[in-house]
Amino acid sequence: MSYSKPMRVNYKRLLTTWIISLIITSVITAVITILITKDKDAEATEVDAIFYTPKVQETEPSISPIPTESPIEDLIVEEPAMTELGEYTITAYCPCETCCGIWAKNRPNGIVYGAAGIELQEGYSVAAPGLPFGTILYIEGLDEYVVEDRPVSWVAEKYDDKIVDIYFLSHDDALEFGLQHRTVYLKGEIQDD
Ligand SMILES: [Zn+2]
Repeated sequence: MSYSKPMRVNYKRLLTTWIISLIITSVITAVITILITKDKDAEATEVDAIFYTPKVQETEPSISPIPTESPIEDLIVEEPAMTELGEYTITAYCPCETCCGIWAKNRPNGIVYGAAGIELQEGYSVAAPGLPFGTILYIEGLDEYVVEDRPVSWVAEKYDDKIVDIYFLSHDDALEFGLQHRTVYLKGEIQDD
């Protein structure tokens, strides 16, 4: 009976160690499988992020064309409506006898009146045939002027009415201006009271 005693103890120990080892291995495999699936999920979200980011970037440039449209619209609105009259001969004159002839001698108060009966102003008044008094003209490269005088008939005939004579105060300034060729535009008319 003395030999059978150690045999019993060995079986119990084997059984307990086997059960313990079984529990430990099952726990370890369970932990490993959980860790593996967690890593796979983490990798999957990282991959998804790589694929989704370019899609977000593609939508960004569509915002830029909107502000470029407004300055073009403003330019169209600001552009004034003008009628091109064509290429004109542009000359200059002053109140002196050389420029005005007999008209220079008939100025009782020294006031220089144009054919329209209005006092002429430098940088504003012009003499032009075939256009009503008060007509606003734009001379390309110069400025806006108002028709308030008439050139002599032979001058109008010489240039076939395509002449604008700009009024200056000084004869030297008129000489300096000389004779030019410029495009003339019709801008409108001065509204009389
Ligand atoms: Zn003159």
